[in-house]
Amino acid sequence: MPHKATVAYFSMEIGLDAAIPTYSGGLGVLAGDTIRSAADLEVPLVAVTLLHRHGYFYQRLDPAGRQREEPVTWPIDDYLELLAPRASVEVEGRTVHLRAWRYEVTGVTDCKVPVFFLDADLEENAPQDRALTDALYGGDDRYRLCQEVILGIGGVRMLRALGFAQVDRWHLNEGHAALLMLALLEEQISLGSQPSTVPAQAIEAVRAQCVFTTHTPVPAGHDRFRPELARQVLGERQWTHLVQCGQERGLNMTDLGLRSSAFINGVAMKHGEVSRGMFPGYPIRSITNGVHTAYWAAPAFRRLYDRHLPGWRHDALTLRYAISIPTSEIWAAHREAKRMLLEHINRETNAGFDQDVFTVAFARRATAYKRAALIFHDLERLQRIVQRTGPLQLVFAGKAHPRDADGKAVIERIHTIKDQLRAQVRIAYLENYDMATATVLCAGSDIWLNTPLPPMEASGTSGMKAAVNGVPSLSVLDGWWIEGCLEGITGWAIGQPVEAGQETAEELAARHAASLYDQLETTVLPCFYQSRERFVEIMRNAIAHNGSFFSAQRMVWQYLHNAYRVR
Ligand SMILES: *Cc1c(COP(=O)(O)O)cnc(C)c1O
Repeated sequence: MPHKATVAYFSMEIGLDAAIPTYSGGLGVLAGDTIRSAADLEVPLVAVTLLHRHGYFYQRLDPAGRQREEPVTWPIDDYLELLAPRASVEVEGRTVHLRAWRYEVTGVTDCKVPVFFLDADLEENAPQDRALTDALYGGDDRYRLCQEVILGIGGVRMLRALGFAQVDRWHLNEGHAALLMLALLEEQISLGSQPSTVPAQAIEAVRAQCVFTTHTPVPAGHDRFRPELARQVLGERQWTHLVQCGQERGLNMTDLGLRSSAFINGVAMKHGEVSRGMFPGYPIRSITNGVHTAYWAAPAFRRLYDRHLPGWRHDALTLRYAISIPTSEIWAAHREAKRMLLEHINRETNAGFDQDVFTVAFARRATAYKRAALIFHDLERLQRIVQRTGPLQLVFAGKAHPRDADGKAVIERIHTIKDQLRAQVRIAYLENYDMATATVLCAGSDIWLNTPLPPMEASGTSGMKAAVNGVPSLSVLDGWWIEGCLEGITGWAIGQPVEAGQETAEELAARHAASLYDQLETTVLPCFYQSRERFVEIMRNAIAHNGSFFSAQRMVWQYLHNAYRVR
């Protein structure tokens, strides 16, 4: 049966459900929220990813905060349906056969969006190839490139095998899927007498169909492969095509995505600007990320919105009318969300968190630029603030990539300080940050802290999840917060809107830490402990101004009208 899809959305990771561990962090969760919202908006979209039989990893932390990674085993057939059609790709001259599993996301009106998970674990494949769809971001460069061949080329071929003969737009969620352009080129050109010649019109025809979203200014987020490796894995014919697409000095997935796409965007206003600086000559736009409102709203807030804002699940902008909700009801919903969080923390870590104490949450991937330990820059000052202004308790969560030594060191440092400050400040570090933990953390804290080193935070989405639950952000002005921060109205800024730029990383950290302490001491803690009504008004503003706008519904709408529109 032929199917029609307006958009085929390709992502190396997709976070659909906390029980399906095929994501590592923000990129995958964003993909999941995009798909959930596309289903709500009845967008004819299909999504493609890899099965990741062993997931990303399960994070164990010993008492010193040393991370141990365990492979995840998950009961695939409890969640996904195995499909009959097959496709194949060539790697290193071998044929790798692929099958697909399907998951269906059901939208608010019952519209279904399928997600196809590619799986190479078939008996007819060579033993080393059977493992190619096992580990998300695992293995060496060769393994990663083979995975990207499967995602990009295998993904296009699998969609064709599944009956998707017509696809209007191919959306590359990050560069990992950029090799899909090779499969589309192959479809465009007749591989007759001169197989190595790619006519300019064929590239142009592919370009007109592709949309590329770049997600990070951090260099490690942009895959590059040595020319010899690319040639060996992809074979002579595909390599020739890549050379004709400017990859002769090595395969650069971001560069390939940029060259192959007519619509290109960064994921927040500032990130679009930064990306234009990184990749001059490309018309890079901005579409700011968003989150799926109903997915991230805690049960207490769902009930509150059902009561006061009927229709909010269909139209997330309805949260703008949260200004009509009495502050007492927002506070009651927050108390319930906070109780769920504190029970979770105390059960998991025995940290003895107290419901009446101001609770600061910091949860995101543990990697150097996120500067998770910035709040510990000056321990004496932090202790003074707690003694003079009011108590606070701090909860952390986040995984470090297995090869990110700096990220791992940050987790250990937080554990050391946790023991050191035991008598003054309760600190907890939750193991194995995932979507389930994120749900309770984003909803139940009193403030959502974010201290990235600008301009490294392309967007950030966890603060948006917090806003859906009325949790204001206290954040460095980077990524989405540049757009979301109305000082003292939706939350608070750390540092200045325009950074001077001549400082060293240490000087900047010292200045940001001082600003963070000033905000806590003179504004945030006094507001929480002494002007509770005002604090809850800020919570309500976070919902009305930021919960409404930073939704994945608005984001998908922008992709529809700007990126997917027929050109
Ligand atoms: C939302 C989310 C992220 C992304 O958070 P950022 O603020 O973008 O760093 C990462 N991991 C999980 C599990 C999430 O739910």
